[in-house]
Amino acid sequence: MNPFTDFADKTMTLPLTPPVAPDVLTPASEASLPLAWRTLESVPDPEIPVVSIRELGILRDVRVLTRDGAAAFEIVITPTYSGCPAMQQIAQDIGAAMTRAGLGPWHITTVLAPAWTTDWISPEAREKLRRYGIAPPTGAHAVAADAPRKITFYGCPKDGVPCPHCGSTETEVVSAFGSTACKAHYRCRTCREPFDYFKPY
Ligand SMILES: [Zn+2]
Repeated sequence: MNPFTDFADKTMTLPLTPPVAPDVLTPASEASLPLAWRTLESVPDPEIPVVSIRELGILRDVRVLTRDGAAAFEIVITPTYSGCPAMQQIAQDIGAAMTRAGLGPWHITTVLAPAWTTDWISPEAREKLRRYGIAPPTGAHAVAADAPRKITFYGCPKDGVPCPHCGSTETEVVSAFGSTACKAHYRCRTCREPFDYFKPY
C-alpha cells in the first residue's frame, strides 16, 4: 500500500512558484531526482536546526509529477501536527533550497494522513536531539495508518524522562508545554539542568 496515493483526497497543495525563469532550471526527471533528494535532505527543521526535515520524518517523498506533458517535482511533507506554526516556514525553506540548487518547477503537497508520529523520527535524529539538550520521545506510538488517531500531546507528561545531559531518570515535569506545544519542560534533580522533552504522539 502506498500511504500517500491511498490518502490522496486528504492532501492540500501549497502553490509555490520558483522566483527564477524556468529556462535556467534543472527540470524534474528521474535523472534529477537524486539531486532533489540531496537538496531537500539538507533542509533543517526551523525549530530544531540540528535535525533535518528528512530525519524528523516531515519530508515524506520527492517524485516527478507529469501533468499535460509538463514535469514538476512533487515534494510531499506531513506536518508534525495539524496547525504546527513551523509548517509555513518549512515550505519557504524548501522553496529556497530548491531555488538555490536550480531545481524546478516544484510544488509541495501536504499529506495529513497518515498522521505524523514521533515514531518517524530516525534513530540518528533522536541522538542529535539528546546531544542538543532535548530528551527524545520514548516508546512507540504508531497505530494502523488508516485508523483515526487523536493527538494526545496535550495529556499530562510524567516524571522520570531520562535527562539528556546526565542520563538520570530523577527528573520532574515543570510545565506540560516547553518552547513549543509539542515539547514539555522538565528539570533534572541530579544535575539540576532544565530541559525540553519531545512528547511522543
Ligand atoms: Zn541531569
